[in-house]
Amino acid sequence: MLGNMMEGPLLISGLIEHAVATNPNSEIVSRRCETDHTGSSIHRYTMKDAAKRSKQIANALINLGAKPSDRIATLAWNNYRHFELYFGVSGIGSVLHTINPRLFPEQLVYIINHAEDRWIFVDLTFVPLLEAIQDQISGVEGFIILADANNMPDTSLKNAVCYEELIDQSSDELEWPTFDENTAAALCYTSGTTGNPKGVLYSHRSTLIHALSEISREALGISSLSCILPVVPMFHVNAWGVPYAGAMTGSKLVFPGPGMDGASLWELIDAEKPDLLLGVPTVWLMLLNHMDEIGKTLDSVKNVVVGGSAAPYSMIKKFDEDHDAFLVHAWGMTEMSPLGTSNVATAAMNNMTKEERYRLQQKQGRPVFGVQMKIVDDNGDPRPHDGIAYGRLLVRGPWIISQYYKNDDMSSFENGWLDTGDVATIDPANYLTIVDRSKDVIKSGGEWISSIDLENAAVGHPELVEACVIGVAHEKWDERPLLLAIRKPDSNVTAEDVKQFLDDKIAKFWMPDDVIFVDSLPHTATGKLLKIDLRKEYQDYLLKA
Ligand code: ADP
Repeated sequence: MLGNMMEGPLLISGLIEHAVATNPNSEIVSRRCETDHTGSSIHRYTMKDAAKRSKQIANALINLGAKPSDRIATLAWNNYRHFELYFGVSGIGSVLHTINPRLFPEQLVYIINHAEDRWIFVDLTFVPLLEAIQDQISGVEGFIILADANNMPDTSLKNAVCYEELIDQSSDELEWPTFDENTAAALCYTSGTTGNPKGVLYSHRSTLIHALSEISREALGISSLSCILPVVPMFHVNAWGVPYAGAMTGSKLVFPGPGMDGASLWELIDAEKPDLLLGVPTVWLMLLNHMDEIGKTLDSVKNVVVGGSAAPYSMIKKFDEDHDAFLVHAWGMTEMSPLGTSNVATAAMNNMTKEERYRLQQKQGRPVFGVQMKIVDDNGDPRPHDGIAYGRLLVRGPWIISQYYKNDDMSSFENGWLDTGDVATIDPANYLTIVDRSKDVIKSGGEWISSIDLENAAVGHPELVEACVIGVAHEKWDERPLLLAIRKPDSNVTAEDVKQFLDDKIAKFWMPDDVIFVDSLPHTATGKLLKIDLRKEYQDYLLKA
């Protein structure tokens, strides 16, 4: 027997309609690329203004000929115009393709062509990026520059249109169309450490239920009382869904634009008093260093959500001890919209010493409602959730990808589960710990060694700036760890010194077979170590030794 309840599609337009009906005066503050007539880069308006302008840009797109399912791209920072586009583009059934400007030019060309983008909305900063590749993206019909007439650049981009003029010419009268909630809403490409980037195509339904779960206290804890500073970019996994969650709850939103250095972030925090910050560890390292330099504390901040890579112990402790802020460690991926787990404060933590609590906070957290996870061995057999056994981490849930966009490769999917490419442990309380990426974990004589743990232990050495551990071929053990490290400028630290330093910090069989000092290490567009070329270069290093 079926239930007797109404059916209604979960649509992104419903979020902005709800926002304007319920929290019309919630503020949205942005740092722009350009300054206004007073010389200020800060822009301020309300949810009501955002809703009106979303309709204007939606009408403008319809007038330009945009059809349902057309891909409309953005190359933009976190700011109010980007926020409007999140609703204006998806609201009419077109697909918002957020492009990551940190991708290499050949990857930009690939994804723009693969997505078949018809128009690209671009912030002033990124105009030169597009000018340089314009000849290779001939399918794009025009470029809409996110600026007013006074700030229009002198550009070689063909069909360059001024965003503010387009808005001014367009009506704000629009009845958002209704359609199937499974319709595609947004497209985001993974940075791809191997091969071409792969597209993740979110639906209206997946986006809405992700936002519903995300706002819960057990996930990110977002409400109308929140003032949120999402430093995580709107061009990478939709700023972890915060624009949608913000519209759903009517929280105040503070967008940092291009200013992600410590001083610029502090300026915004000091002025706008956010209580919830979200971003990757490197951003917080810069902010924490800046706060040390100026000797001030982040008084308004209560929670800092950290994901993208592991939050170090020292950061968890520093946020708590110096700033009285709780670091919410979260884990997810582009393929998961992105939220998978969250490590929020619990009653059990009240009975722990600070040291015990910080150790627990180093774990990536427990699954948020809607996400199921398990760990399996190489044969796909389940591994115990004892907090010790390592396994390949598999996930499933209604905001997790079931296949990549226009891509037949199903190798990441196993019987309805997504192989995350991560190796993890799960403890009896269901806390996840990410051990490594599957391709980076070192398999030494049947035992697994976490390259991440080794790197974290090595960077604890006061004379090392960065460390990278790779598995290289070994006659007896198949694979052994090799440590590549960057020394501080004046340091003469030796391989032997580093090994001695590691001696009491890691299991004996984890000890790197050698330490090589390098001047630089390669990174992906999202700042993660890019190990693939290093593995090729050093593959035979120990065999030759
Ligand atoms: P990319 O485009 O760089 O792949 P994603 O955000 O999709 O960006 O990266 C997802 C991966 O990032 C995860 O599979 C995991 O390996 C890593 N990751 C994310 N959050 C964490 C975390 N809190 N701790 C450790 N690793 C993390």
